[in-house]
Amino acid sequence: MKKKKFLTLGLAALAVSSFIITNTFAKTMADGMPSASFSVNDNVSDYYFKSRIYQGTYHWNVTPTPAAIGRSSTSTNTINKLAGGATSSYGLYAAKYINGSRGFDIYINYQAIDSLVSGRSLTDRDKAYESVIVHELGHALSLADLGFLDTRSSIMSEYIKRYNLWTPQQYDINDVNAFY
Ligand SMILES: [Zn+2]
Repeated sequence: MKKKKFLTLGLAALAVSSFIITNTFAKTMADGMPSASFSVNDNVSDYYFKSRIYQGTYHWNVTPTPAAIGRSSTSTNTINKLAGGATSSYGLYAAKYINGSRGFDIYINYQAIDSLVSGRSLTDRDKAYESVIVHELGHALSLADLGFLDTRSSIMSEYIKRYNLWTPQQYDINDVNAFY
């Protein structure tokens, strides 16, 4: 049984905005990891993607929080490129249990991200990928989505363009520190 969190595209989010608004103040969620110290599997052959995973974990690890996200080729927590990205999401966080322990699988919709940054700089492409990875890792750190109509500065925001914000913000840091 997996519980899934989607990072939606803006237009798709409009259709369900009434549901998202009610979640504005539900800042944390129950599907995250029991500890802010965990590892993710970086055993991917795509060097560009592997580098974005490295940067995504780094952006969390340098925050003044208990977040300590390691990288291991044997971790059962995975970050994957979404195959056949015909979904209206940039990313997906799916909590799971392995032998009774909480874990997760993250899926990155590279087709949607590449479409978003089409015609933009390579730096913007890097930022957009890292933004989605940092957002999904935010779910692993028990942070809930910030609804599409909430314009506060947060990596959990669905309002921002992903290349405009790619690191955890004070709002996110406060919530992680409150939870762990
Ligand atoms: Zn999300």
